[in-house]
Amino acid sequence: MNNKNILISGAGIAGVSLAFWLRRFGFQPTLIEISPKLREGGYAIDFMGAGYDVAKKMGILPELEKVDMDISKLAFVDGNNKEQGSMNYRKIKRLMNNRALTLLRSDLAKAIYKALDQDIGIIFGDTIDKIEQDNEKVIVTFRSGSSRFFDLVVGADGLHSKVRNLIFGNEAQFENYYGYYTSSFTIENFPYEGKVFSMYNVPNKQVAIYSYSKGKTTTFFIFASPVKLSYNYHDVDQQKEILKKQFMDAGWKCPELLSRMDSSADFYFDSVSQIKMEKWSKGRVALIGDACCCPSLLSGKGSTLAIVGAYILAGELKQANGNYITAFEAYENAFKPFITKKQKSAQTFAKSFVPKTNFGIWLRNLAFSLMSLPFVTKLLLNQFKDKGLELKEY
Ligand SMILES: Cc1cc2nc3c(=O)[nH]c(=O)nc-3n(C[C@H](O)[C@H](O)[C@H](O)COP(=O)(O)OP(=O)(O)OC[C@H]3O[C@@H](n4cnc5c(N)ncnc54)[C@H](O)[C@@H]3O)c2cc1C
Repeated sequence: MNNKNILISGAGIAGVSLAFWLRRFGFQPTLIEISPKLREGGYAIDFMGAGYDVAKKMGILPELEKVDMDISKLAFVDGNNKEQGSMNYRKIKRLMNNRALTLLRSDLAKAIYKALDQDIGIIFGDTIDKIEQDNEKVIVTFRSGSSRFFDLVVGADGLHSKVRNLIFGNEAQFENYYGYYTSSFTIENFPYEGKVFSMYNVPNKQVAIYSYSKGKTTTFFIFASPVKLSYNYHDVDQQKEILKKQFMDAGWKCPELLSRMDSSADFYFDSVSQIKMEKWSKGRVALIGDACCCPSLLSGKGSTLAIVGAYILAGELKQANGNYITAFEAYENAFKPFITKKQKSAQTFAKSFVPKTNFGIWLRNLAFSLMSLPFVTKLLLNQFKDKGLELKEY
C-alpha cells in the first residue's frame, strides 16, 4: 500500500469514521482535533439509511442502540404546551424496520471513536496552521509549533474547515446561506415530559426540547434571518445575546430555557448553510463531511453523508492501493451525484422549514398530523431512503 501515513483534521463523525476505515484497510491515520477532548453533548440527529448500513459494517450498532434517545412522539405545541399536531415516531421507525436511530451527535462520534484501533495517533488541542505539498509529501505545521511529514491530509473539520481555507481559499466562495440561524445546548434537570420531542413555533422561529436520560434536556432553536448576521464566530457571549434577543419574548418555555443557557457546557450556534465545491481535493489534500459538502440540517442527512463519505474515500484509497490521484477522483465520482441530490432537496425544503405566519403554522400542524396516515407516511419514508447510492464492498 502506498501513501499510508495520513493526517485527518477533525475528530467529528467524518474524521473518526475515516480513521476507522483507513486503519481497517491497512493505512496509518493520525487524527488532530482542535478541542482538548472529543466534543460532548450536542443536538439530536436522525440516523438511518446508508449511514445506518455503514455503522452496521463497522460493528457499532449495539453501542448505538444503547444510546438511542428513544423518542416516542414528535409533537407541535402551542404557547400553553397544548398539542396541535403530532406524529407517532415509534410507528415511523417500525415502518423503517427499526433501521433508524435518534442520537446525540457526540454519541455517534464517541461510539466510532471507541471502536478505533489503539495504535491510531490522536492529537487533541491542536490544529493545522500551514500545509505545503509537493509530488512526494505534505509538510504540515501545527499551531503548537512542530512540523511533520505526511503522505496525505484529509480535512474533516466541518462547515468552517481550516484545511479547506488553507488549500482552497476563502469560505465565502463555497458557502450557500439558507436564511436561518440555529442553536442548541443541553440543560440539566428540566421538568421531564415523557418521551415526547416537543416543538413550538411563532412566525419565523422554532424551538424544540427533548428530555433524555440522566435528567438532561437537549434544546434546538432555529430562526429566520434573510441576511447573514455579522458576529464574531469565537465570541460565544455575543451569540448567546443574539439568541436571547430572538427568543426572550417568544413565549412558551423560551425564557426559562434561555435563563439556563449559561449553565450549559455545549452551546452551539451557527448559520444554516451548505458547502458546494467543484472539486473536493487538490494534490495530496482531500476533504470529507461538512467540510466539502455540508447539506445543512435541512437535509437531516449530514451525519449519514459524513460517515458514508469517509467509507467511500477510505475504500477507494484501498482499491487504488494508495494511489491518491485515482482514489480521490473515484471518491468524487461515486459520491458527488448523491450529495448534489440531497443538497437540492434540502434547498427546496428551506423556504418552508419554519412557517412565516400564524396561518402557516396552523397549516403545518395539520399537515404534520396527516403524516400518520399510511400513504403519507410512505411518501415521507421515501424521502429518507438513500436511493441512487450504491455502497461497494471494499
Ligand atoms: C442543529 C443540527 C441538527 C442536525 N440534525 C441532523 C440530523 O437529524 N441528521 C443528520 O444526519 N445530520 C444532522 N445534522 C448535521 C450533522 O450534525 C453534520 O452534518 C455532521 O456532524 C458533520 O460531521 P463532520 O464530522 O463533517 O463535521 P463536524 O461534526 O462539524 O465535526 C468537525 C470536527 O472538526 C473539529 N475541528 C474544527 N475545526 C478544526 C480545526 N481547525 N482543527 C482541528 N479540528 C477542527 C471540530 O471540533 C469537530 O470535532 C444536524 C446539524 C445541526 C447543526
